Amino acid sequence: MKECLICSTSLKLIKFKCADGHVCKKCYEKVSSNFTQTIKTKTKEELMTILESSQEESVDSSFELSRKINQLIFFDDKNQQICLPNHRKYTKENLKPEIYPFAAILNCQVVEDQIERLVKKKKQQLGCIKVVLTFENDTREIWLIPNFINRDSMAYKTMCSLAANIVTEVKQSKELAVC
Ligand SMILES: [Zn+2]
Repeated sequence: MKECLICSTSLKLIKFKCADGHVCKKCYEKVSSNFTQTIKTKTKEELMTILESSQEESVDSSFELSRKINQLIFFDDKNQQICLPNHRKYTKENLKPEIYPFAAILNCQVVEDQIERLVKKKKQQLGCIKVVLTFENDTREIWLIPNFINRDSMAYKTMCSLAANIVTEVKQSKELAVC
């Protein structure tokens, strides 16, 4: 008997064809955005990607964007929560977007690492920047400058003030939660 490519349940009469085989009705509903798209030419890999992003969307639906700082952090003042999109670029790892209530925020601070290095026989001050968020059960890092760069550069200064903005807004949100 045939199995669903996605969830491996055995398929009976109702099944939907894709490029690599068949999927069950439940999975089809998820990967076809409620039966509005065909999957005939899609591979298993493509379907899995669609499935993942549809799950991310369902997380987002309980989140109403009020403010954001670049693509780094999102604030929902109505439901009193923040969302960290967890782009690979900023976290150094691949994580799903995560939502935390304002009330769970314990601390937020800018952390700078600084080193001195000889570049072309000149001493240079290098640094990297991250914002560390401490929650009741978790710690998250948002990397603004993940690799050491010149601290006198424009990019470094920009990211420095961006990091300070994040801390200010997170702390304000935290105070909102207490009221
Ligand atoms: Zn299935």
